[in-house]
Amino acid sequence: MGCTAETTAAAIRAAADAIAVNRAELTSLDRAIGDGDHGDNLARGFAAVITKLDAEVPATPGAVLKLVATTLISTVGGASGPLFGTAFLRAAAAAGEAAELDAATVAAALGAARDGVVSRGKAEPADKTMVDALTPAVDAAEAAARNGGDVAAVLAAAAEAAEGGAVATTPLQARKGRASYLGARSIGHVDPGSRSSAYLLRAFAAAAAG
Ligand SMILES: [Mg+2]
Repeated sequence: MGCTAETTAAAIRAAADAIAVNRAELTSLDRAIGDGDHGDNLARGFAAVITKLDAEVPATPGAVLKLVATTLISTVGGASGPLFGTAFLRAAAAAGEAAELDAATVAAALGAARDGVVSRGKAEPADKTMVDALTPAVDAAEAAARNGGDVAAVLAAAAEAAEGGAVATTPLQARKGRASYLGARSIGHVDPGSRSSAYLLRAFAAAAAG
């Protein structure tokens, strides 16, 4: 089965739950190499998203993703709001007006989200940012779609790769964002944005698997 407005909304609800559950950990990761607000910022943004979804679920998957984007941009502070907002906005554009998204479109939307983050944040691979979770996730999602995987398989592959990518940020020295001011002292910590990106993808995968 493809991805409808209803299943997209369910995936966003699962993501909001995951952020709420892991809020303290994300904030603590950000306290180590940033300004200690990542979990709180994302939790506030996703809570605002859920309030809007409770009022009305938009008609298409693309419209759901666009609502997430605009809400995160207006409610999440720091660098994260524009970056996650851009990711969801580009995914929404890739989804277009379709009532249902197939596996290849979901993989393409993930790729568009990653490209949006790269162009907005100017981060390159191994800069110790969310790009380091999203890039292996996109590669894995595209491979799963090429191999005939359904939406759940594509998202499961993306989540697994994103988790690996997040862990792999640990030995890296940050070259972007506030963490880069720490120089070598940023080494030895997981990048918070890569971790939250992995949590979002794992939640989408779990929701798609039902
Ligand atoms: Mg922060």
